[in-house]
Amino acid sequence: MLRSTKIVATLGPASSDPAVLERMVRAGVDVVRLNFSHGTADDHLARATLVKEISRKTGRTVAIMCDLQGPKIRVGKFKDGKVMLQKGQVFVLDAACDLGDGSRAGLDYKELPRDVGAGSVLLLDDGKIVLDVTEVRGEEVHTKVRHGGVLSNNKGINRQGGGLTAAALTPKDIDDIRTAAKINADYLAVSFPKTGADMYMARELLRASGGKAFLIAKIERAEAVTPAALVDIMNACDGIMVARGDLAVEVGDAAVPALQKRMIRLAREHNKLTITATQMMESMIESPVPTRAEVSDVANAVLDGTDAVMLSAESASGKYPVEAIEAMHRICVQAEQSQPLSLDQDFLNRVFTRVDQSIAMAGLFTAFHLKVKAIATLTESGSTALWMSRLNCGVPIYALTAQTATRYRCALYRDVYPLMVKYVGKDREELLAEAEKVLVENGVVKDGDLIVLTIGEPIGKSGGTNTMKIVKVGEHRKA
Ligand code: PGA
Ligand code: MN
Repeated sequence: MLRSTKIVATLGPASSDPAVLERMVRAGVDVVRLNFSHGTADDHLARATLVKEISRKTGRTVAIMCDLQGPKIRVGKFKDGKVMLQKGQVFVLDAACDLGDGSRAGLDYKELPRDVGAGSVLLLDDGKIVLDVTEVRGEEVHTKVRHGGVLSNNKGINRQGGGLTAAALTPKDIDDIRTAAKINADYLAVSFPKTGADMYMARELLRASGGKAFLIAKIERAEAVTPAALVDIMNACDGIMVARGDLAVEVGDAAVPALQKRMIRLAREHNKLTITATQMMESMIESPVPTRAEVSDVANAVLDGTDAVMLSAESASGKYPVEAIEAMHRICVQAEQSQPLSLDQDFLNRVFTRVDQSIAMAGLFTAFHLKVKAIATLTESGSTALWMSRLNCGVPIYALTAQTATRYRCALYRDVYPLMVKYVGKDREELLAEAEKVLVENGVVKDGDLIVLTIGEPIGKSGGTNTMKIVKVGEHRKA
């Protein structure tokens, strides 16, 4: 059964065994996420090599996304590894403290005392612990514990409402961008961007290292979800991640569902990609089946129009990485089938001026009304497939390409299935025959099926799509 929505799986100890990873890929992983918050550059290079081997062996297109750690703002270490904070007690975050204890914690982010003041609310360990700032004295941030609990080494700190000045790219991130280029990653995810400029900087560094990855902006800061900032970031990236973990801490958990819908809609309007992430199958870290709430969460992300749903700890360190992918697969498929098609309405207010984009839209509209079996787009860069996939016409889109980079990149696009076309000549009829052969060989269509096909003439120029054809499979062989 074809699944339109793609699955991103984070790799970690639970998915290091080649046999397990292969089972995960066969169960439906489309993109693996290498999380640079953990492990060394060599670990990631080795994982990427293994993914490429399995991709070759299984014939499945598995793209690689490198995810930068970003300026995670953390407390330092404690003498005993952890402390217990009681509601109402005074607790100091001290930029000058080396090893913390029950009354104070050090900070690896030394700027914190400059970024907060009396009345600021700090959330530690993804919001499990809440501190009210009472005053700032030099390097010391004095707080009163609102919600207590166990606080252990190097737990993250967020400020409610945002406002921390830390730069989006740390020296470690800059090193990691080089590793991503070496891996030849298909996607690079940037953590905590506040503006489009953060994304441009990452892109420049990546290009300077020879990397060609598409850039994903992780939306996880309060500053990033204002309408102006979101559009600014959107214009500077190729896609966004709805990074619900940190985002919920910064804007409040209850604000996230509406933001998710708004971001996905906006991204599609801007011809950008979306990944919905964090805690989607959280209980499957320990359990072989998801909760009812998790099933609904994944299905709702599909109905919101996300390109991909993501697994984090479930596939990186959970007990049931393969089962989590199988569960996501069946939930996505069924949610997609339940989705009403409204392409005509979706076309209202769409503006396009480019020739190639016009052909993409015409192809989509035609495919929807003629109820063809498939759309085939002969594409160099994949942009025709991307435009077509921003609206849902209920017809699968096959991106036929001679470019390996395009094949892998398209693995994340909703409704798009990449296939390689080996033909490199310039003869139009030969290319069309080859394209048809690939579709038939892959079991996509059979003789007599109608397909909508788009192509650029003359052959082989990127961004040159200017022709749409309605093809009856097998006709030209009779002629
Ligand atoms: P992370 O990002 O897992 O790298 O923190 C995702 C999120 O914050 O939701
Ligand atoms: Mn995050």
